[in-house]
Amino acid sequence: MMKQKVLLSVNNLKKYYDIPQGLFKEKIIVKAVDDISFTITKGETFALVGESGCGKSTTGRTILKLTEPTGGRIIFDGNDIAALPYKKMRTLRNRMQMVFQDPYASLNPKKTVREILTEPLRVHKKFDHDTRLKKVKSMLEIVGLSEYHLDRYPHEFSGGQRQRIGIARAVILQPDFIIADEPVSALDVSVQSQVINLMLELQKEFELTYLFISHDLSVIQHMTDRVAVMYLGKIVEIAKTEDLFTNPKHPYTKALLSAVPITHPKEKKERIILKGDVPSPANPPSGCTFHPRCPAALDICKTQAPKTSEHGNSHSVSCHLYNKIEEEIPHAISHS
Ligand code: SF4
Repeated sequence: MMKQKVLLSVNNLKKYYDIPQGLFKEKIIVKAVDDISFTITKGETFALVGESGCGKSTTGRTILKLTEPTGGRIIFDGNDIAALPYKKMRTLRNRMQMVFQDPYASLNPKKTVREILTEPLRVHKKFDHDTRLKKVKSMLEIVGLSEYHLDRYPHEFSGGQRQRIGIARAVILQPDFIIADEPVSALDVSVQSQVINLMLELQKEFELTYLFISHDLSVIQHMTDRVAVMYLGKIVEIAKTEDLFTNPKHPYTKALLSAVPITHPKEKKERIILKGDVPSPANPPSGCTFHPRCPAALDICKTQAPKTSEHGNSHSVSCHLYNKIEEEIPHAISHS
């Protein structure tokens, strides 16, 4: 089998923030993204999933250099993004685009669709005026709108139509790679599948590679190839999507999956309710940061961070349950 080309490689990426706290404004370090690594191959849809505040959106923004990484490397098609000067990054950016969660907030309300879609072509000095207009009209058709919408403003569209405009703006430069940050979570459920189908059609037509960020495993189940599960700034499990859904390993992944609505009346599953909320990344728990909420926690989990172990078929997990510590396993922490 031919080896697929790696388009994006993220190695030991860190994004820390200094936050002043208390009366004396002492600085504490918040590790929003803490030493994560993954690769995305050309044409793949790779998902980052986790609860709000787990660092998935910060990861997306850091990859696009919308915020500077604290450490680690981001290699896009052979270019080290973290080390790239502003001018070169600007050139590369037309190959890397973003679709945002809230299409209304991300579209300038004072600009017409014509201006919104022409702008990326103009900024990147692509084509003359007439060709730009042709491209804009053709892109509107592709995303299910029409020439008729050219001189309308964002407030004149429904949420789904606005997201179609947001997607058209991302695709018009014919990028290789798109980061979609919760692209359907602000939309009605009835519209979500239409937008997802549009993204899948565009992927085929333009050979796009996606990083799809979502808190909702049911959304990513049918449209992604692999999934990385994030918790408090770290990746706790990576697997092919089907493998993750049929054979989850990490207790946090199991809890997230137990909340996905069943799709078949014969399917049975027991909901795993996690105790408490996600802890603050400003003051993360020791050892495995999931241990205060984990129904399977061991004594060792309180003090030692787990290592990542491989389980074949590109499935990796960071959990002491898989770290060959048989002698520790009988001392599981009892959760009252
Ligand atoms: Fe639970 Fe321990 Fe695994 Fe963390 S390392 S997920 S606390 S069993």
